[in-house]
Amino acid sequence: MDKFIQIAIDGPAAAGKSTIAKIMAQKLGYVYVDTGAMYRAITWASIHHDVDLDNEKAIMALLSETRISLAPGGKVSVNNVDVTEQIREPDVTANVSKIATYESIREALKARQIALADAANVIMDGRDIGTHVLPDADFKFFMVADPKVRAQRRHEENRSRGIASDLVSLEADIKKRDEMDANRKHAPLKQANDAILIDTSALSIHEVVDKMVGFVLK
Ligand code: C5P
Repeated sequence: MDKFIQIAIDGPAAAGKSTIAKIMAQKLGYVYVDTGAMYRAITWASIHHDVDLDNEKAIMALLSETRISLAPGGKVSVNNVDVTEQIREPDVTANVSKIATYESIREALKARQIALADAANVIMDGRDIGTHVLPDADFKFFMVADPKVRAQRRHEENRSRGIASDLVSLEADIKKRDEMDANRKHAPLKQANDAILIDTSALSIHEVVDKMVGFVLK
């Protein structure tokens, strides 16, 4: 069997990864894998089941019984319950980077992510895709944007989803999450040596997509 194509997109919070990855997946006919949604799903399930968020073992036990499904349209389900909106709520966002520090959780989700990449051409976004999950990916991108631009974009996105949003606290939350993600011990947020850096601060969605699809179809 031919190996499937892998495109990895990493970068800090709210840099535009998922927006771009979704459009690219459609253009190229690839499966989009939102690995952040997987971390959010186990965080939501832990909160929902009142599991102590300091207890890695208990969260791991819960994860082993938790089926996380990512449907092509963006719907995220946990054991067949639609949690697409819930996983974007502030209580999940505030706790997800803590859960993402746990090595056992990372290894278990990594195995699920690799299984998805073994089954189709994928465009996968996250923090450690080019460095740890798919180190041999055919294309690797590291997407960044000015922190103020990122906060403003997420603010608008929240408002369009009907989620309460305050720009100042959003900027602080994004900064805190990036610091935790970049400084954790296991698979931190980091640009892979062979990743192409894309700064989206001054680019439209359309311009970013064109640039990145250009690399893939070259
Ligand atoms: O991509 P998103 O912002 O939804 O990711 C939520 C959180 O999940 C990140 O802040 C990070 O803590 C964690 N994450 C991770 N590794 C990934 C994807 C997400 O640690 N590959």
